[in-house]
Amino acid sequence: CGIFGATGVPDAANFVALGLHALQHRGQEAGGIVSFAPGVGFSSVRRFGYVRDNFTSADVMKQLPGQIACGHVRYSTAGSKGAAIRDVQPLFAEFAMGGCAIAHNGNLTNAEALRAELIDRGSIFQSSSDTECIIHLMARSIQRSIPERMKDALRRVEGAFSVIAMTRTKLIGVRDARGVRPLMLGRLTNGGWCLASETCALDIIGAEFVREVQPGEMVICTADGIESSFPFEAKPKKFCVFEYVYFSRPDSVIGGHSVYETRRRIGVELAKENPVEADLVCPVPDSGTPAAIGFSQESGIPYAMGIIRNQYMGRTFIEPTAEIRNMGVRLKLNVNRALIKGKRVILVDDSVVRGTTSQKIKDMILDAGAAEVHFRIASPPTQWPCFYGVDTPDRENLLAAQMTVEQMRQHLGVNSLAFVSLDGMYRACGEKKRAAEPQFCDACFSGDYPVRPTDVIAAGRVK
Ligand code: 5GP
Ligand code: SF4
Ligand code: MG
Repeated sequence: CGIFGATGVPDAANFVALGLHALQHRGQEAGGIVSFAPGVGFSSVRRFGYVRDNFTSADVMKQLPGQIACGHVRYSTAGSKGAAIRDVQPLFAEFAMGGCAIAHNGNLTNAEALRAELIDRGSIFQSSSDTECIIHLMARSIQRSIPERMKDALRRVEGAFSVIAMTRTKLIGVRDARGVRPLMLGRLTNGGWCLASETCALDIIGAEFVREVQPGEMVICTADGIESSFPFEAKPKKFCVFEYVYFSRPDSVIGGHSVYETRRRIGVELAKENPVEADLVCPVPDSGTPAAIGFSQESGIPYAMGIIRNQYMGRTFIEPTAEIRNMGVRLKLNVNRALIKGKRVILVDDSVVRGTTSQKIKDMILDAGAAEVHFRIASPPTQWPCFYGVDTPDRENLLAAQMTVEQMRQHLGVNSLAFVSLDGMYRACGEKKRAAEPQFCDACFSGDYPVRPTDVIAAGRVK
């Protein structure tokens, strides 16, 4: 998901809409904005679909007045899949200290257990979202201010969270102790503050990047400035390496590293580790593009656009059902036949999950008369589901969990198939290699889960 908040600026919701538009790649199912204005109170608009279709008209934006607002773009991982407007964030609730809205990126790994406990104690849940647990825990806290109640609540949850919350006067940003999901602090040109999942959302509104909210940090932005605290027990940092591989936008900077440059360097590592003779290096657009550029630079094999992307389609993976995903690949990508015919082609993509994309693309490329197809994948084999906010399927549906690389090569029917190594990926991220205590979360590739996935263990989905 993507989250954005702004305070200290007239019509803050307009800034939030723009910020969310820049974060649309992080979630396309739905979006919402909550604002507060004195005399009006809290206002909320939550809708299915793209930000540009829902939050551009004057009619809608005038329903969101005030100098403080926050918003969310949704990509469902926890809770019910697909359509339910009650699960669209920001969630908003009134309790003892006044109202509070919450936008959450990540996934809580003990939400089911907490929900059962809270329901037992009388809480009435309105949604199937894991985030709602935070609200109920806040409502039950005995603390005297919303930030303190929030700290209380967040000390009880496990898993990954970057949260933007707002009260009537405060914009609050918090990251879990491991810092699994990103969260950036920015300064608006008029002196107001904003919080965003990625720096690309600061760029769109001309905000200055101040710094990242640190793992385990809570920042409170008000008219008086920034207040920082570290309410949680310190933990080893585990930023999601998949944010670099795929999830974040290439024009964002995270942890001091350009996402684009990191992806390009993964391509360099991939070419070093798995060279092959060929005529062209082609990306599977757009996610494979920076790595393909790196692969081409390192190997000296010319880069070319062998597959053309229809710019009017979203990300295929995000579509919840298999039928739509299958269609999606063809609606989105088409082969540049004139270029491909008779050529030995290296195809570079960021990842293989179910294998749907790779299979379809290989068919299209061979159909267009390619002499050879060599797949190069800019991440290690995805063998494990993510429980921290990326919607990877269970192991039965992960191609690399079911087959060896050679079996996958045969299954896909390509001349060769190779993945970057874990160490290669770490080198591209600026490390020497993967350390004994890894510098990132890489559980979907390694199976080393930094946070015990309580709920899924209870449900018997993993050991
Ligand atoms: P597959 O077709 O193998 O299931 O999915 C791989 C493709 O989906 C890749 O091209 C990649 O760009 C995209 N993808 C991989 N992982 C994710 C993910 O977690 N979320 C989304 N939205 N897309 C993904
Ligand atoms: Fe990121 Fe993979 Fe860890 Fe999930 S399991 S947080 S996608 S690295
Ligand atoms: Mg892709």
